[in-house]
Amino acid sequence: MSDTITVELLSRWIHEFSGLVSAHHDQLNSLDAAIGDADHGTNLDRGFTVVAAGLATAPQQPGDLLSHVGRTVVSKVGGAAGPLFGSFFLCLGDAIGNDPDLDSRRFALGLRAGLAGVVARGRAEAGDKTLYDVLAPGVDAIDAAAAAQYDLPDVFRAGLLAAEAGRESTICMLARKGRASYLGERSVGHQDPGATSACLLFTAATSAAT
Ligand code: ADP
Ligand code: MG
Repeated sequence: MSDTITVELLSRWIHEFSGLVSAHHDQLNSLDAAIGDADHGTNLDRGFTVVAAGLATAPQQPGDLLSHVGRTVVSKVGGAAGPLFGSFFLCLGDAIGNDPDLDSRRFALGLRAGLAGVVARGRAEAGDKTLYDVLAPGVDAIDAAAAAQYDLPDVFRAGLLAAEAGRESTICMLARKGRASYLGERSVGHQDPGATSACLLFTAATSAAT
């Protein structure tokens, strides 16, 4: 089976993510209500509804498509999540470029560039209880599975398993970044909303590739 990551697959990925964000709108708001201001689902859903509606007319080359998604996310998604998710897609799009033979190893490098974009923007580190705690292990797992030449669906499945473990790991963390950090010890015992939505990126990639 070819493991080429086509622009159609990337477009399906974004479309699936947007659908999952809508389906989890209330859950993301409730998680944010516990340790933030209850708007994370609303922020993401509003922006990704616009992104999904624009997919048919977006550039049909891999890097250009994801950079376009990143720009739309920056301008349409509010809160901390907008610039963070936006940087992720902008840096990912930049890194993969428009090579039509994009394979999973190059895509993994692109995801790592996306993660670096998130860090450049928010300065989060492992254990700060943010979306970094999902993206970093998810990207590591995708990188390792791509290097081991897994089939594409299995590459993304490996990423999803690591991302889910990362999401669960945020429950016992004390928040050190963003609004949740104002709560100090009271942030412990709650799953991070951004980690929860970031995990949906891996769910969406897995279904787009399967
Ligand atoms: P806001 O806090 O402005 O209301 P959202 O509710 O949309 O923004 O997003 C909150 C999520 O953003 C948090 O759950 C966390 O995962 C993520 N986050 C906040 N600050 C940072 C940061 N500096 N680096 C990485 N992620 C962050
Ligand atoms: Mg919020």
